[in-house]
Amino acid sequence: MRTVFTASRLYTPTEEILDPLLVVEDGRIAEVSLRSGKEVPGNTPLVDFGDAVLTPGFLDIHMHGGAGLDVMRTSSADLPPLGRFLASHGVTGYFPSTVTAPLDATCAALERLADAIEAARDGAGGNGDGVQARPLGIHLEGPFLSHKRRGVHPPEYLVAPTTEVFDRLWQAARGHVRMLTIAPELPGALEVIAEAARRHVCVSIGHSDAEMTVAQDAVKAGARHATHTFNAMRPLDHRDPGILGEVLTDERLSADIIADGIHVSPAVVKLFLQAKGAERAVLITDSISATGMPDGRYQLGPIQVDVKEGKCTAGSTLAGSVLTLDRAVRNVTQFAHWRLQDAVRLATLNPARAVGLVGKHGVLAGGADADFSVLSPAGEVRKTIVRGRGF
Ligand SMILES: [Zn+2]
Repeated sequence: MRTVFTASRLYTPTEEILDPLLVVEDGRIAEVSLRSGKEVPGNTPLVDFGDAVLTPGFLDIHMHGGAGLDVMRTSSADLPPLGRFLASHGVTGYFPSTVTAPLDATCAALERLADAIEAARDGAGGNGDGVQARPLGIHLEGPFLSHKRRGVHPPEYLVAPTTEVFDRLWQAARGHVRMLTIAPELPGALEVIAEAARRHVCVSIGHSDAEMTVAQDAVKAGARHATHTFNAMRPLDHRDPGILGEVLTDERLSADIIADGIHVSPAVVKLFLQAKGAERAVLITDSISATGMPDGRYQLGPIQVDVKEGKCTAGSTLAGSVLTLDRAVRNVTQFAHWRLQDAVRLATLNPARAVGLVGKHGVLAGGADADFSVLSPAGEVRKTIVRGRGF
């Protein structure tokens, strides 16, 4: 089955193609080209999105839930409404992210998430119930986090990093762990970083009070990314730069940020973007189950969170967000006056690169999955296509 899509422009995202043709065959992109000079055979359906922009589907590599669902608590049968909610915000792929909880509860959650990932990969479910973003891998946020920079992760469940505990989590997830947030200063962390990197996990430093030299040791051991830069991190001091000195200056590291204007002030988001640039900055949501829901009390793994006017707190500490990724992209165009094309890159190609999914995800190019977003010229989501379906 072949379908051809067109719109006013397309972001690959590194290139802008005006008057594009996007040819989809059996859920994959067959070709991206200019419309001029191309004949679309009469029997091939042509879908014209008018003045819209076609972009790769957004990838959220750090999210805990949405639409009232918490990924630590849901079964694979509960995930379709979450997938539909994410798709309504332009997201086509995501990493359900754990929070620190008792190890048994975490392992049970990992088994359920592995089921959901395999079901999405094998194409079971989803047919006929609307377009859904797919879970593509698991992000372990915890339990190897700093007590001092734990945020709302419960201190009683934090665990010292060992390859044994990491392997137990890995086995429970049946190898679907694609990302690990870890505080590199903890005894044993460098061994776990090296082992996770060996298994092609994106090792991300975060929830950390590390000094700069320790962060550099983490990079030597295989860390390649940083988690919600500035949040749950030792603050930057100009004489004692700490982990942030490494995160903001090392070109081997990509880094993500919660660009909701609450977790980090817009001016500091702009500073971050200048430091990491269009090549290495990544947008995440860190969204919780309350995303897309009214104010009230919600669950984040074992933690109770109060949501009021877009702010999520447990006690006096920020506890995730109700940000959606399409809004994060628009915020970058506002906070830093970036072009939409560059802002889109931070939610598509860059996260795909960071976690090793590029080729199949994060780009509009031949061979990639036909996952794409249809945006208004101002970046509002009009439609989301997953594996060529949903128009
Ligand atoms: Zn998180």
